[in-house]
Amino acid sequence: MTKPFLIVGGGPAGLSAAYSLANIGEKVVLVEKEGMLGGAPILSGYAKLVPSGEWAKDAIGSMVDRVVKHPNIEVKTGTSVSEFSGEPGAFSAKLANGETVENGATILCTGFTHFDSINKPEWGFGQFPDVVTTTQVEQMISSGKGVRRPSNGDKPKRVAILLCVGSRDRQIGREWCSKICCSVSAKMATEIREELPECHVYIYYMDIRTFGLYEEIYWKSQEEQKVKYIKARIAEVTSDGDKVIVKGEDTLVKRPITIPFDMVVHAIGMDPNADNMLISDIFGVDLHHWGYIKQENTYGVMGASSRPGVFVAGAATSPETIDDSIAQGSAAAMSAMACVRGSGAVAAE
Ligand SMILES: Cc1cc2nc3c(=O)[nH]c(=O)nc-3n(C[C@H](O)[C@H](O)[C@H](O)COP(=O)(O)OP(=O)(O)OC[C@H]3O[C@@H](n4cnc5c(N)ncnc54)[C@H](O)[C@@H]3O)c2cc1C
Ligand code: SF4
Repeated sequence: MTKPFLIVGGGPAGLSAAYSLANIGEKVVLVEKEGMLGGAPILSGYAKLVPSGEWAKDAIGSMVDRVVKHPNIEVKTGTSVSEFSGEPGAFSAKLANGETVENGATILCTGFTHFDSINKPEWGFGQFPDVVTTTQVEQMISSGKGVRRPSNGDKPKRVAILLCVGSRDRQIGREWCSKICCSVSAKMATEIREELPECHVYIYYMDIRTFGLYEEIYWKSQEEQKVKYIKARIAEVTSDGDKVIVKGEDTLVKRPITIPFDMVVHAIGMDPNADNMLISDIFGVDLHHWGYIKQENTYGVMGASSRPGVFVAGAATSPETIDDSIAQGSAAAMSAMACVRGSGAVAAE
Protein backbone atom coordinates (compact mmCIF):
# COMPACT_ATOMS: atom_id res chain seq x y z
CA MET A 1 0.00 0.00 0.00
CA THR A 2 1.24 3.53 -0.80
CA LYS A 3 2.48 5.33 2.29
CA PRO A 4 1.19 8.84 3.03
CA PHE A 5 3.30 11.99 3.23
CA LEU A 6 3.86 13.44 6.68
CA ILE A 7 3.63 17.21 7.10
CA VAL A 8 4.77 18.59 10.46
CA GLY A 9 3.29 22.01 11.30
CA GLY A 10 -0.03 23.43 10.17
CA GLY A 11 0.83 27.06 9.37
CA PRO A 12 0.73 28.62 5.89
CA ALA A 13 3.68 26.48 4.68
CA GLY A 14 2.29 23.20 6.04
CA LEU A 15 -1.25 23.93 4.82
CA SER A 16 0.13 24.63 1.35
CA ALA A 17 2.30 21.49 1.28
CA ALA A 18 -0.58 19.30 2.49
CA TYR A 19 -3.08 20.71 -0.01
CA SER A 20 -0.63 20.50 -2.93
CA LEU A 21 -0.06 16.78 -2.33
CA ALA A 22 -3.67 15.92 -1.52
CA ASN A 23 -4.91 17.71 -4.60
CA ILE A 24 -2.92 15.45 -6.90
CA GLY A 25 -4.34 12.37 -5.20
CA GLU A 26 -1.71 11.67 -2.52
CA LYS A 27 -2.56 10.76 1.06
CA VAL A 28 -1.29 13.19 3.70
CA VAL A 29 -1.05 13.15 7.49
CA LEU A 30 -0.69 16.65 8.94
CA VAL A 31 0.59 16.85 12.52
CA GLU A 32 0.19 20.16 14.42
CA LYS A 33 1.31 20.56 18.01
CA GLU A 34 -1.27 23.22 18.91
CA GLY A 35 -5.00 22.63 19.20
CA MET A 36 -5.82 24.34 15.88
CA LEU A 37 -4.38 24.85 12.40
CA GLY A 38 -3.33 28.14 10.81
CA GLY A 39 0.10 28.84 12.30
CA ALA A 40 1.16 32.26 13.55
CA PRO A 41 -1.43 34.32 11.61
CA ILE A 42 -4.30 32.43 13.30
CA LEU A 43 -2.71 31.40 16.61
CA SER A 44 -1.43 34.94 17.24
CA GLY A 45 -4.57 36.66 15.91
CA TYR A 46 -3.07 38.81 13.14
CA ALA A 47 -5.32 41.51 11.64
CA LYS A 48 -5.00 42.44 7.94
CA LEU A 49 -2.09 40.89 6.05
CA VAL A 50 0.47 42.57 3.84
CA PRO A 51 0.57 42.83 0.92
CA SER A 52 -2.97 41.55 0.17
CA GLY A 53 -4.89 43.63 2.74
CA GLU A 54 -7.06 40.56 3.48
CA TRP A 55 -7.96 39.69 7.07
CA ALA A 56 -5.78 36.82 8.33
CA LYS A 57 -8.80 34.91 9.64
CA ASP A 58 -10.34 34.92 6.14
CA ALA A 59 -7.19 34.38 4.07
CA ILE A 60 -5.52 31.72 6.20
CA GLY A 61 -8.90 30.50 7.47
CA SER A 62 -9.82 29.51 3.90
CA MET A 63 -6.54 27.57 3.62
CA VAL A 64 -7.41 25.74 6.85
CA ASP A 65 -10.95 24.97 5.60
CA ARG A 66 -9.84 23.35 2.36
CA VAL A 67 -7.29 21.20 4.22
CA VAL A 68 -9.70 20.11 6.93
CA LYS A 69 -12.37 19.20 4.35
CA HIS A 70 -10.01 17.36 2.00
CA PRO A 71 -10.67 13.60 1.98
CA ASN A 72 -6.98 12.82 1.37
CA ILE A 73 -5.75 14.71 4.44
CA GLU A 74 -5.82 13.36 7.98
CA VAL A 75 -5.23 16.13 10.52
CA LYS A 76 -3.81 15.37 13.95
CA THR A 77 -3.75 18.41 16.24
CA GLY A 78 -2.41 18.69 19.77
CA THR A 79 0.47 16.31 19.19
CA SER A 80 4.00 16.23 17.77
CA VAL A 81 6.57 13.72 16.56
CA SER A 82 8.68 12.25 19.36
CA GLU A 83 10.68 9.62 17.42
CA PHE A 84 11.55 9.35 13.75
CA SER A 85 13.42 6.64 11.85
CA GLY A 86 13.75 4.99 8.45
CA GLU A 87 14.71 6.07 4.95
CA PRO A 88 13.07 7.71 1.94
CA GLY A 89 9.98 5.72 1.01
CA ALA A 90 9.84 4.02 4.42
CA PHE A 91 9.88 6.40 7.39
CA SER A 92 8.22 5.76 10.72
CA ALA A 93 7.16 8.64 13.01
CA LYS A 94 6.05 7.99 16.57
CA LEU A 95 3.73 10.69 17.88
CA ALA A 96 3.57 11.99 21.46
CA ASN A 97 -0.03 10.64 21.62
CA GLY A 98 1.28 7.09 21.09
CA GLU A 99 0.25 6.70 17.43
CA THR A 100 2.71 5.76 14.69
CA VAL A 101 2.61 7.31 11.21
CA GLU A 102 4.38 5.30 8.50
CA ASN A 103 5.27 7.71 5.70
CA GLY A 104 7.21 7.92 2.46
CA ALA A 105 8.60 11.44 2.95
CA THR A 106 8.27 14.19 5.53
CA ILE A 107 8.07 17.97 5.19
CA LEU A 108 9.00 20.07 8.22
CA CYS A 109 6.91 23.26 8.30
CA THR A 110 7.52 24.04 11.95
CA GLY A 111 7.82 27.81 11.54
CA PHE A 112 9.33 30.38 13.86
CA THR A 113 9.03 31.81 17.38
CA HIS A 114 8.14 35.48 17.97
CA PHE A 115 11.02 37.43 19.52
CA ASP A 116 10.36 37.96 23.22
CA SER A 117 10.87 41.67 23.88
CA ILE A 118 11.89 40.90 27.47
CA ASN A 119 15.28 40.21 25.85
CA LYS A 120 15.56 43.94 25.02
CA PRO A 121 15.02 45.33 28.54
CA GLU A 122 16.34 48.84 27.85
CA TRP A 123 13.38 49.41 25.49
CA GLY A 124 10.82 49.19 28.28
CA PHE A 125 8.77 46.07 27.49
CA GLY A 126 7.58 44.29 30.62
CA GLN A 127 8.39 47.43 32.65
CA PHE A 128 5.80 49.89 31.33
CA PRO A 129 2.29 48.68 30.40
CA ASP A 130 2.06 50.99 27.39
CA VAL A 131 5.05 49.37 25.73
CA VAL A 132 3.60 46.56 23.60
CA THR A 133 4.53 44.42 20.58
CA THR A 134 3.24 44.35 17.02
CA THR A 135 1.57 41.03 17.83
CA GLN A 136 -0.40 42.66 20.65
CA VAL A 137 -1.51 45.53 18.40
CA GLU A 138 -2.51 43.00 15.69
CA GLN A 139 -4.73 41.37 18.34
CA MET A 140 -6.23 44.72 19.44
CA ILE A 141 -7.23 45.38 15.82
CA SER A 142 -8.40 41.87 14.89
CA SER A 143 -10.51 41.59 18.07
CA GLY A 144 -12.42 44.72 17.01
CA LYS A 145 -11.60 46.47 20.31
CA GLY A 146 -9.29 48.94 18.57
CA VAL A 147 -5.93 50.34 19.57
CA ARG A 148 -6.03 51.44 23.22
CA ARG A 149 -3.46 52.21 25.93
CA PRO A 150 -3.21 49.08 28.13
CA SER A 151 -2.61 51.28 31.23
CA ASN A 152 -5.96 53.09 31.15
CA GLY A 153 -7.94 52.04 28.06
CA ASP A 154 -7.67 55.51 26.48
CA LYS A 155 -7.25 56.12 22.77
CA PRO A 156 -3.58 57.01 22.23
CA LYS A 157 -2.77 60.44 20.80
CA ARG A 158 0.85 59.65 19.94
CA VAL A 159 2.23 56.23 19.07
CA ALA A 160 5.83 55.24 18.27
CA ILE A 161 6.65 52.02 16.43
CA LEU A 162 10.27 50.91 16.93
CA LEU A 163 11.64 48.75 14.10
CA CYS A 164 14.20 45.93 14.26
CA VAL A 165 13.37 44.79 17.81
CA GLY A 166 15.10 41.43 18.07
CA SER A 167 16.52 41.63 14.54
CA ARG A 168 19.77 43.02 13.11
CA ASP A 169 21.06 43.21 16.66
CA ARG A 170 24.38 41.49 17.24
CA GLN A 171 24.41 42.44 20.94
CA ILE A 172 21.60 39.97 21.58
CA GLY A 173 22.72 37.38 19.02
CA ARG A 174 20.15 38.13 16.36
CA GLU A 175 21.92 39.19 13.21
CA TRP A 176 19.18 38.50 10.68
CA CYS A 177 16.65 40.89 9.16
CA SER A 178 13.18 39.54 9.89
CA LYS A 179 12.04 40.65 6.44
CA ILE A 180 8.40 41.42 7.18
CA CYS A 181 8.38 43.84 10.15
CA CYS A 182 8.95 47.05 8.15
CA SER A 183 5.93 46.26 5.97
CA VAL A 184 3.82 45.09 8.93
CA SER A 185 4.69 48.32 10.79
CA ALA A 186 3.83 50.58 7.84
CA LYS A 187 0.51 48.72 7.53
CA MET A 188 -0.10 48.97 11.29
CA ALA A 189 0.65 52.70 11.32
CA THR A 190 -1.87 53.12 8.49
CA GLU A 191 -4.49 51.09 10.39
CA ILE A 192 -3.96 53.18 13.54
CA ARG A 193 -4.36 56.43 11.57
CA GLU A 194 -7.50 55.10 9.87
CA GLU A 195 -9.05 54.17 13.21
CA LEU A 196 -7.76 57.19 15.13
CA PRO A 197 -7.24 60.11 12.70
CA GLU A 198 -6.20 62.41 15.57
CA CYS A 199 -3.36 60.10 16.60
CA HIS A 200 0.18 60.94 15.43
CA VAL A 201 2.20 57.86 14.49
CA TYR A 202 6.00 57.83 14.29
CA ILE A 203 8.16 54.99 12.97
CA TYR A 204 11.74 54.84 14.28
CA TYR A 205 13.95 53.03 11.76
CA MET A 206 17.56 52.10 10.89
CA ASP A 207 16.67 51.25 7.28
CA ILE A 208 13.32 50.71 5.61
CA ARG A 209 13.11 47.30 3.96
CA THR A 210 9.68 47.19 2.36
CA PHE A 211 10.81 45.17 -0.64
CA GLY A 212 8.98 44.62 -3.92
CA LEU A 213 5.25 45.35 -3.86
CA TYR A 214 5.38 45.86 -0.08
CA GLU A 215 6.78 49.35 -0.86
CA GLU A 216 3.21 50.39 -1.74
CA ILE A 217 2.16 50.35 1.91
CA TYR A 218 5.23 52.43 2.82
CA TRP A 219 4.25 55.23 0.39
CA LYS A 220 0.61 55.02 1.42
CA SER A 221 1.50 55.39 5.09
CA GLN A 222 3.49 58.55 4.39
CA GLU A 223 1.50 60.22 1.66
CA GLU A 224 -2.08 59.38 2.62
CA GLN A 225 -1.79 58.86 6.37
CA LYS A 226 1.06 61.27 7.21
CA VAL A 227 2.97 58.71 9.26
CA LYS A 228 6.31 60.23 10.26
CA TYR A 229 9.52 58.27 9.77
CA ILE A 230 12.54 59.07 11.99
CA LYS A 231 15.92 57.55 11.17
CA ALA A 232 17.30 57.05 14.65
CA ARG A 233 19.41 55.09 17.04
CA ILE A 234 17.38 54.45 20.18
CA ALA A 235 19.17 54.61 23.53
CA GLU A 236 16.37 53.80 25.96
CA VAL A 237 12.66 53.86 26.66
CA THR A 238 11.64 55.29 30.04
CA SER A 239 8.45 56.63 31.63
CA ASP A 240 7.33 59.65 33.66
CA GLY A 241 4.52 57.60 35.19
CA ASP A 242 2.08 58.48 32.40
CA LYS A 243 3.86 58.92 29.07
CA VAL A 244 6.44 56.53 27.67
CA ILE A 245 9.56 58.43 26.63
CA VAL A 246 11.75 57.39 23.72
CA LYS A 247 15.30 58.73 23.92
CA GLY A 248 17.84 58.44 21.16
CA GLU A 249 19.69 60.18 18.37
CA ASP A 250 18.24 61.36 15.06
CA THR A 251 20.97 59.96 12.85
CA LEU A 252 20.11 62.15 9.84
CA VAL A 253 20.70 65.46 11.66
CA LYS A 254 22.94 63.87 14.32
CA ARG A 255 21.07 65.40 17.27
CA PRO A 256 19.62 63.84 20.40
CA ILE A 257 15.82 63.47 20.42
CA THR A 258 13.49 62.77 23.33
CA ILE A 259 9.78 62.38 22.57
CA PRO A 260 6.95 61.35 24.94
CA PHE A 261 4.33 58.91 23.62
CA ASP A 262 1.10 57.34 24.85
CA MET A 263 2.13 53.96 23.44
CA VAL A 264 5.34 52.42 22.13
CA VAL A 265 5.15 49.37 19.86
CA HIS A 266 8.05 46.95 19.39
CA ALA A 267 8.15 45.60 15.83
CA ILE A 268 9.31 42.18 16.94
CA GLY A 269 11.35 39.84 14.76
CA MET A 270 11.11 36.18 13.80
CA ASP A 271 13.39 33.99 15.91
CA PRO A 272 14.16 30.41 14.88
CA ASN A 273 11.58 28.03 16.38
CA ALA A 274 12.60 27.70 20.04
CA ASP A 275 12.28 23.89 19.65
CA ASN A 276 14.67 23.63 16.70
CA MET A 277 17.41 21.83 18.68
CA LEU A 278 14.87 19.16 19.58
CA ILE A 279 13.44 19.03 16.05
CA SER A 280 16.99 18.71 14.66
CA ASP A 281 17.67 15.83 17.04
CA ILE A 282 14.41 13.96 16.40
CA PHE A 283 14.46 14.25 12.59
CA GLY A 284 18.25 14.10 12.18
CA VAL A 285 18.43 17.36 10.23
CA ASP A 286 21.14 20.02 10.46
CA LEU A 287 20.53 23.58 11.59
CA HIS A 288 21.91 26.79 10.07
CA HIS A 289 24.35 28.45 12.50
CA TRP A 290 21.68 31.03 13.36
CA GLY A 291 19.34 28.23 14.45
CA TYR A 292 16.90 27.85 11.53
CA ILE A 293 16.58 24.44 9.80
CA LYS A 294 19.31 24.27 7.18
CA GLN A 295 18.43 23.93 3.52
CA GLU A 296 20.72 21.85 1.33
CA ASN A 297 21.21 22.23 -2.35
CA THR A 298 19.14 25.42 -2.69
CA TYR A 299 19.28 25.47 -6.48
CA GLY A 300 18.88 21.73 -7.06
CA VAL A 301 16.10 20.28 -4.92
CA MET A 302 13.62 22.78 -3.52
CA GLY A 303 13.24 22.41 0.24
CA ALA A 304 15.84 19.66 0.73
CA SER A 305 17.13 19.34 4.30
CA SER A 306 20.40 17.61 5.19
CA ARG A 307 18.52 14.28 5.44
CA PRO A 308 17.30 12.65 2.21
CA GLY A 309 13.52 12.29 2.21
CA VAL A 310 13.00 15.01 4.84
CA PHE A 311 12.12 18.41 3.37
CA VAL A 312 11.63 21.84 4.90
CA ALA A 313 9.57 24.91 4.00
CA GLY A 314 8.50 28.34 5.25
CA ALA A 315 9.70 30.24 8.29
CA ALA A 316 11.35 27.05 9.60
CA THR A 317 14.13 27.84 7.11
CA SER A 318 14.54 31.59 7.79
CA PRO A 319 12.37 34.65 8.40
CA GLU A 320 9.83 34.40 5.57
CA THR A 321 6.67 36.10 4.38
CA ILE A 322 3.41 34.20 4.16
CA ASP A 323 3.45 34.29 0.36
CA ASP A 324 6.95 32.80 0.25
CA SER A 325 6.09 30.22 2.90
CA ILE A 326 3.12 29.09 0.83
CA ALA A 327 5.26 28.89 -2.31
CA GLN A 328 7.96 26.94 -0.47
CA GLY A 329 5.37 24.52 0.95
CA SER A 330 4.17 23.75 -2.54
CA ALA A 331 7.72 23.44 -3.90
CA ALA A 332 8.76 21.10 -1.08
CA ALA A 333 5.66 19.01 -1.82
CA MET A 334 6.86 18.61 -5.41
CA SER A 335 10.34 17.57 -4.20
CA ALA A 336 8.86 15.08 -1.73
CA MET A 337 6.69 13.66 -4.50
CA ALA A 338 9.70 13.28 -6.82
CA CYS A 339 11.66 11.64 -3.99
CA VAL A 340 9.06 8.93 -3.42
CA ARG A 341 7.49 8.50 -6.85
CA GLY A 342 10.30 9.71 -9.14
CA SER A 343 13.36 8.02 -10.53
CA GLY A 344 15.21 8.22 -7.23
CA ALA A 345 17.64 10.80 -8.55
CA VAL A 346 16.18 13.53 -6.34
CA ALA A 347 16.46 11.50 -3.15
CA ALA A 348 20.07 10.76 -3.87
CA GLU A 349 21.14 14.35 -4.61
C1 LIG B 1 3.64 40.51 14.06
C2 LIG B 1 3.82 39.79 12.76
C3 LIG B 1 2.95 40.06 11.71
C4 LIG B 1 3.11 39.41 10.48
N1 LIG B 1 2.29 39.74 9.45
C5 LIG B 1 2.55 39.23 8.21
C6 LIG B 1 1.83 39.70 7.06
O1 LIG B 1 0.96 40.57 7.14
N2 LIG B 1 2.15 39.16 5.85
C7 LIG B 1 3.14 38.21 5.71
O2 LIG B 1 3.42 37.80 4.57
N3 LIG B 1 3.81 37.73 6.79
C8 LIG B 1 3.54 38.22 8.03
N4 LIG B 1 4.26 37.78 9.11
C9 LIG B 1 5.12 36.60 8.94
C10 LIG B 1 4.26 35.31 9.05
O3 LIG B 1 3.89 35.13 10.40
C11 LIG B 1 5.07 34.11 8.54
O4 LIG B 1 5.45 34.36 7.18
C12 LIG B 1 4.24 32.82 8.53
O5 LIG B 1 3.59 32.61 9.77
C13 LIG B 1 5.15 31.62 8.21
O6 LIG B 1 4.35 30.48 8.06
P1 LIG B 1 4.91 29.02 8.46
O7 LIG B 1 3.83 28.06 8.16
O8 LIG B 1 6.22 28.81 7.83
O9 LIG B 1 5.19 29.10 10.02
P2 LIG B 1 4.19 29.35 11.27
O10 LIG B 1 3.12 30.30 10.93
O11 LIG B 1 5.10 29.64 12.41
O12 LIG B 1 3.52 27.92 11.49
C14 LIG B 1 4.24 26.84 12.01
C15 LIG B 1 3.27 25.85 12.62
O13 LIG B 1 3.98 24.68 13.04
C16 LIG B 1 3.57 24.32 14.35
N5 LIG B 1 4.69 23.62 14.98
C17 LIG B 1 5.85 24.14 15.43
N6 LIG B 1 6.65 23.17 15.91
C18 LIG B 1 5.98 22.01 15.76
C19 LIG B 1 6.27 20.65 16.08
N7 LIG B 1 7.43 20.31 16.62
N8 LIG B 1 5.34 19.71 15.80
C20 LIG B 1 4.14 20.04 15.23
N9 LIG B 1 3.80 21.32 14.92
C21 LIG B 1 4.72 22.27 15.18
C22 LIG B 1 3.21 25.64 15.01
O14 LIG B 1 2.34 25.45 16.12
C23 LIG B 1 2.54 26.39 13.85
O15 LIG B 1 1.17 26.09 13.76
C24 LIG B 1 4.13 38.43 10.33
C25 LIG B 1 4.99 38.13 11.39
C26 LIG B 1 4.86 38.82 12.59
C27 LIG B 1 5.82 38.52 13.68
S1 SF4 C 1 12.18 44.06 7.97
FE1 SF4 C 1 12.63 46.15 8.67
S2 SF4 C 1 12.11 46.13 10.88
FE2 SF4 C 1 12.28 44.01 10.23
S3 SF4 C 1 14.40 43.48 10.75
FE3 SF4 C 1 14.37 44.07 8.57
S4 SF4 C 1 14.87 46.27 8.57
FE4 SF4 C 1 14.31 45.71 10.68
